Amino acid sequence: MNTENTATLQDTCMSCAACCHDTEMLISPADMEQVSALGYAIDSFSIIDPETGERMLKNINGSCVFLEGKEPYTCKIYHARPKGCRFFPLIYDQERGRCTMDREYCPHWRDFTWMETDKTLVRELLNFLKHDLQLF
Ligand code: SF4
Ligand code: SF4
Repeated sequence: MNTENTATLQDTCMSCAACCHDTEMLISPADMEQVSALGYAIDSFSIIDPETGERMLKNINGSCVFLEGKEPYTCKIYHARPKGCRFFPLIYDQERGRCTMDREYCPHWRDFTWMETDKTLVRELLNFLKHDLQLF
């Protein structure tokens, strides 16, 4: 992927931020360590799902605690954002048993289909889900 395309996709995300609203983004111990190192207390930016026991990003007034502005939006911790935010909209579809685009939540998923065919990225996502989040 070239720099020009990356910049275009960043622009798309900055004017969208759909995945930063009512986020259910799971975060790993390494994610928490990385964000905590910036001076944030763990409970100020994350909650534990009472049903699953999994830790995820906290929302305030319907958006992630780290989301700022409005079209363009910014992520206050962009360079230290959790890994799940970096992979999105590439997700693991349990029913189909494969990594794919989240067509439900990302309105611009067609711009990101290159992620599905990037074997290194797919392997990284599977490793993250398996080892960092211990989901399977
Ligand atoms: S929903 Fe898709 S286009 Fe919108 S910010 Fe998230 S990844 Fe970017
Ligand atoms: S950490 Fe940043 S990229 Fe991730 S959901 Fe929050 S605002 Fe969005």
